Amino acid sequence: MGDVIDEKRDGEIVEGTGRNNIKSKDARGVLEKIKKAKTVVIKVGTSTITHHNGTINLLVVEKLVRALSDLKNENKNVVLVTSGAIGVGCSRMGLTKKPESLPEKQALAAIGQVNLMHVYSRLFSEYGQIASQILLTKDVIEDDERKLNAINTFNTLFKYGSIPIVNENDTVATEEIEFGDNDTLSAVVAVLVKADLLILLSDIDGLYDKNPRRHSDAKLIPIVYGITRQIEQNCQNTDNSFGTGGMITKLAAAKICNSHGIPMVIANGDNPYNICRIINGELVGTIFVPRGGEDEDERSAG
Ligand code: ADP
Repeated sequence: MGDVIDEKRDGEIVEGTGRNNIKSKDARGVLEKIKKAKTVVIKVGTSTITHHNGTINLLVVEKLVRALSDLKNENKNVVLVTSGAIGVGCSRMGLTKKPESLPEKQALAAIGQVNLMHVYSRLFSEYGQIASQILLTKDVIEDDERKLNAINTFNTLFKYGSIPIVNENDTVATEEIEFGDNDTLSAVVAVLVKADLLILLSDIDGLYDKNPRRHSDAKLIPIVYGITRQIEQNCQNTDNSFGTGGMITKLAAAKICNSHGIPMVIANGDNPYNICRIINGELVGTIFVPRGGEDEDERSAG
């Protein structure tokens, strides 16, 4: 630990394990901006909030809710994008693995979503917060009027001081209208609400130079300035039984954020208090520094 992070911008990636000595002006600037973030979107993956058997990991969810409630107390707008409905549905029905057929998956999503929301809503209430639910499909952002409606709904929920909890509307989504994964969905939501930061909490510390589940010498990449083909090649997909996505979809989310000037962080969700460390300007996990990240005016939703 302790190596100096390179200033190099060609090749678009800054590698190194140093966490203290950040030379890059952009990265420093972004960390400073993150501290002042007004609107934050946090996405949690299935493997973060559920045990291997699909039941809800109450300890993690409690910490998550506590951390988000604290952000809310600091007067920030908070959006939670949560996966896990199908996994929780499977566990409610005593299934050990996600079924193949669409009707079964959609039915399990319907069962799991209620359970998930019940837990979130109850825990948020304990901290005096008002949770709300928004289920989205891709057609919402493809149609200008619906998109505007969605934006207005988010903004009104912020005005009410509510914490919107977002998921794909799995029970009706068909291939044409599905986002397919919540990493992409969370980036789209970040754009809709003009977020200052997207945090993806995963089952891994961040982006590595190769899949750490398969290579014991994989190194964490703390700062990324752009997604190169090399980075994409480094990300083989995940093997977990309930999740979808993997690192590839996190890179897709980073690209969306990047083109809208929104910084994105991948961090380990095992400890949801990582959210607080990130908001305090600490370099945790992997930060994707957006293009034009220094310039607020370059940002636009759409
Ligand atoms: P989540 O459910 O938390 O969103 P995923 O399981 O979908 O997480 O994605 C994270 C997984 O991606 C890791 O656990 C790992 O197996 C896989 N992965 C593949 N390539 C990489 C890489 N280069 N760096 C980190 N993780 C990688």
